[in-house]
Amino acid sequence: MSIIKDFLLQLTFMLIPIFIYYTFITERVENDKNRKVIMTILWGISIIACMSFPVVFGQNARLELRIIPLLLGTLYGGFLPGIFLSVLIILYRLYFGVDLGFYNTVAALLLTLPVMLLFQKKFASSKKDIRVKIAVTFSFYYCLIGLTMFGILRGFSLEYLIVPIIHLIFAVVVTWCFTMLIEAIREIHQLRLEMQNTEKLRVIGELTSVFAHEIRNPMQVTRGFLQLLDEPDLPDKKKEYIQISLEELDRADEIINDFLFFGKPSMNNNERIDVGYQLKRVVNIIQSYTLNRNVEIKTDLIDNCWIYANPQKLNQSVINILKNAIESMPTGGIVWITCTSTYDGYIKITIKDQGIGMTKKQIDMLGSPYYSLKENGTGLGMMVSFQIIHSFKGKIQVNSKKGIGTEIFILLPQIT
Ligand code: ADP
Ligand code: MG
Repeated sequence: MSIIKDFLLQLTFMLIPIFIYYTFITERVENDKNRKVIMTILWGISIIACMSFPVVFGQNARLELRIIPLLLGTLYGGFLPGIFLSVLIILYRLYFGVDLGFYNTVAALLLTLPVMLLFQKKFASSKKDIRVKIAVTFSFYYCLIGLTMFGILRGFSLEYLIVPIIHLIFAVVVTWCFTMLIEAIREIHQLRLEMQNTEKLRVIGELTSVFAHEIRNPMQVTRGFLQLLDEPDLPDKKKEYIQISLEELDRADEIINDFLFFGKPSMNNNERIDVGYQLKRVVNIIQSYTLNRNVEIKTDLIDNCWIYANPQKLNQSVINILKNAIESMPTGGIVWITCTSTYDGYIKITIKDQGIGMTKKQIDMLGSPYYSLKENGTGLGMMVSFQIIHSFKGKIQVNSKKGIGTEIFILLPQIT
């Protein structure tokens, strides 16, 4: 019974880093390097725990799965994590004393690590199935080396080899399970990111049809003035015409820029951004959407609202909410966008409409994937907005009354 307990404990030591990493680290730490450092430390702790509490049975037969954190740390992390984890194993093994087992450990590592590092690049660029195969092969290879050395030192009798053989089977099966688990989690993360992008492209598609109008308008105005300028006996309004044309062209230019910026694939990097400035860009983009809907957008934005976020993603999340606000008023109305700072250190963006509103039940459903009450809605807009705001350590609050309107608050941690 205690063997099973010990064995389950070993499994727990490996599950905890995976759980911590994919729940708390991947989406919160944007820097790739920092993520790797954290993952390596987590695997390091896992190795020490595995070695400190081995599965003990029979006369001094110890069985532990430190190879798995080492293997996963090296394959998913790369060169430095691999070296670090190996050195950690050797140093910690040294602490138990220099005996046969110690030399065995060092020799097995010397024979495995270089090959693992050699294959790491291939692993990183391979598909899921290949990755699982590579990981399992390495686990098998490492244990086989251990087993062979054990045999050479103690003799190849089943009596002695039974422990390394059990170890090998355990290690291979557990490696397979954990690699599959990590791959499954990574796939889900990837899908989430792709979903955000697909939804963004869809919104862009919807906006571009009306967007063309925004560009054509200034062009036509300018064309008209240019024609007027051609008249020989032009009144002294010449300057004014040129001025208006320039303003119109600048505005078109601004809208094109904002649109391009919004559509640009966003990297995963956050930066210091001014919320007021970004909201102006968002309004520029969404303005075209209000044109034939009889909707007016009113803004009240204060300056110097700094937050740490990715501007394209912030814009994406606000546009999704604004679009809903506009769509909630089929007969037209006013949408207010305000931005203020709160006493408890947040920047508060408020988006308020006079639309159809939502019941308590509908509010609770908001943000669930595919929840939509619209004929051709996707039900992904709010989900993406929630995801983005949460990734900036912010909050979204909803206040809505059926038939009266909706108020959505985005709270984001302010920086100076
Ligand atoms: P979609 O817009 O594609 O339907 P969303 O995730 O953006 O998907 O919104 C989900 C649902 O939430 C909408 O279908 C709508 O019923 C409701 N909703 C969202 N925002 C508002 C709002 N401002 N007023 C009323 N209903 C809203
Ligand atoms: Mg929507």
